[in-house]
Amino acid sequence: MIFTHDTERALAIVVELINTGPAAAGAERLGGLPDLCAFVERHGFSDVGELAEADLGRARELRDRFHAVFRADGVPAAVRQINEIVGEVRPTPHLTDHDGYDWHVHFFAPGAPLGEHLAADCGMALAYVVAAGELDRLRTCEAPDCSRVLVDLSRNRCRRYCDSRTCGNRMHVAAYRARQREAAH
Ligand SMILES: [Zn+2]
Ligand SMILES: [Zn+2]
Repeated sequence: MIFTHDTERALAIVVELINTGPAAAGAERLGGLPDLCAFVERHGFSDVGELAEADLGRARELRDRFHAVFRADGVPAAVRQINEIVGEVRPTPHLTDHDGYDWHVHFFAPGAPLGEHLAADCGMALAYVVAAGELDRLRTCEAPDCSRVLVDLSRNRCRRYCDSRTCGNRMHVAAYRARQREAAH
């Protein structure tokens, strides 16, 4: 494991959130409250209460700012983005073992709205990535027609494609065909 379990879980949430946006997915996949509710359900967010339009707006806004970290041109630009995100929350760190998870630290207060939850925990996860000197693990898929993001958690930093739409498979098949064409000449 490259990062701690809860950091990797928060990073997975960041990736999934960014990949709901038009800039990554080519279309808005967080179009309304039902989409946001499904997202929250899928990731087992604890205790976020009833979601409202304001939560949707805040989630989309944070999505763009998380995406800017992935697209940052170097560490200082990423640091600026992350510091702005985590600087807006009033952190309330505490240990919790909710919903059967092992002990881990939450940086948001119990019952905090979804936006606090995302900005604090996902923002801190991104901060840990930079602090560990691992910013280059935050990537954009290299398949030519794909703009989705990924976190490369492989030991040898070899992951190049997102795990949706089977980009890796498509590219391997394309490379295989190209090699065969070469061989046929
Ligand atoms: Zn938790
Ligand atoms: Zn892809």
